[in-house]
Amino acid sequence: MTGLYIHIPFCKQKCKYCDFVSFSGMENLTDQYIDALENEARRFCGEKIDTVFIGGGTPTVLTAKQLRRIVGMCFNLFDISNEYEFTIEANPGTLDDDKISSALGGGVNRISVGVQSFNDNELRRIGRIHNAETAYNTICHLKKMGFDNINVDLMTALPSQTEQSLMSTLKTVAELPVKHISAYSLIIEEGTPIAKEYDAGVLDIPDEDTERSMYNTAADILKSNGFLQYEISNFAVSGFECRHNIKYWTAEKYIGLGAAAHSYDGKNRYFNTSDIKAYLQGAPREKVILTEQDRISEFIITGLRMISGIDENVFLEKFGKKFDRLYGAELNKFISMGLMTYDNGRYALTPRGIDVSNSILCEFV
Ligand code: SF4
Repeated sequence: MTGLYIHIPFCKQKCKYCDFVSFSGMENLTDQYIDALENEARRFCGEKIDTVFIGGGTPTVLTAKQLRRIVGMCFNLFDISNEYEFTIEANPGTLDDDKISSALGGGVNRISVGVQSFNDNELRRIGRIHNAETAYNTICHLKKMGFDNINVDLMTALPSQTEQSLMSTLKTVAELPVKHISAYSLIIEEGTPIAKEYDAGVLDIPDEDTERSMYNTAADILKSNGFLQYEISNFAVSGFECRHNIKYWTAEKYIGLGAAAHSYDGKNRYFNTSDIKAYLQGAPREKVILTEQDRISEFIITGLRMISGIDENVFLEKFGKKFDRLYGAELNKFISMGLMTYDNGRYALTPRGIDVSNSILCEFV
């Protein structure tokens, strides 16, 4: 079945590192934006969907009424399977009981909270609107209100972050009622305020070796607290892996609605304009034709990020070609270097391979 992604490009305030398509101070456009989403969704009416992900931006800057409208639209226009996963992204400081009840009552069954850190200084340095206490209380409250499947997004390699402060954040997460944790490193994106600090040489971010060590510490602590690593940056209590994101990593089909959203129909990719005003005026999406080699490269890059790796039978089924016929030299080289394993028909990165995953993946492109 297909996944459905809905992009809500509104935020209360722009974080210093953010280059996502999200805008602050545009709340006056939210109703119009939902109208445009509905128009776009009608084009896919009746599509069979088993995962929905409302992301952003910050979906929870919308009002409870607007959230009800979007969630209702999903169930009214699409054929949502009985066994669905329905995630909404939320940021601490933008939730209230009415919004939480609207999401839960509408059928949302997973919530992903952008915490990033439980250290107030680190949060301030990256321009988040919340502090550690608000984040902690938000998660406890979501659980109390009825959310059982809660994800927390964390970041590593933050300005002023140390291995010790990261450990303290992880210990705090581990005592909270969460089932899933994503931990991505801070990327310095061009044009962001944090990039200016970096260029000016005033950004005290960890060096590459410290960052690797932080990543491994994080993975160890999460594992010892019952979170299984199933993707390079994602950890979950068994059975709570994010089904929607797995669709991206295994090249399944998905429909993306909203400004800057993209879709994949199993063959080609489609991009919506990231210009919010053009989106509101119904700008057509752009089709990008993928060659078979494009699809194979993407499949390998995302597939090897999964800890279970790539199943050679799935590869054969998808592309009609044997994985080891196409990439025998690379696979043998990395296996002999101890960076990959071949087990039970699956090729996967080893922990050492994960440490140098970028250079390994480059050789498959
Ligand atoms: S909340 Fe997320 S999308 Fe919004 S500005 Fe911050 S990082 Fe960007």
